[in-house]
Amino acid sequence: MCVFCSIIKGELPAKKVYEDEHMIVIADIKPAYRLHYLAIPKEHYGTLAELDPFTASDLAFILKKIPDVAKGLGYGDGYRLVINQGESAGQTVAHLHIHILGGEKLRRM
Ligand code: 5GP
Ligand code: ZN
Repeated sequence: MCVFCSIIKGELPAKKVYEDEHMIVIADIKPAYRLHYLAIPKEHYGTLAELDPFTASDLAFILKKIPDVAKGLGYGDGYRLVINQGESAGQTVAHLHIHILGGEKLRRM
């Protein structure tokens, strides 16, 4: 079972800051920014490619929820969302997740 599925099942500890029937938000174990949380669907999808037109609504639900959650976490007036796809992009956990990056001034991309 993948590491995020283990966290979702409660078999691995994590600093969980939000949960509902579709998703969790946890603190990244190795934060790369002052604020670095991960929004994760409870359903296991390896990458975006595994979503179909129906399950894609899972991702839409998460994106819709992030502004509320980010507000409560103190991101202030801005943050960056990142989804690493595949090895070349540095994806290390094969369970779709959205990085919520901020709490500091981010460099322009
Ligand atoms: P990726 O590199 O796949 O886009 O992102 C995976 C992220 O998950 C990394 O930023 C990494 O630090 C984080 N991560 C890996 N294992 C764990 C874990 O067991 N717990 C938590 N909270 N984060 C993890
Ligand atoms: Zn998983």
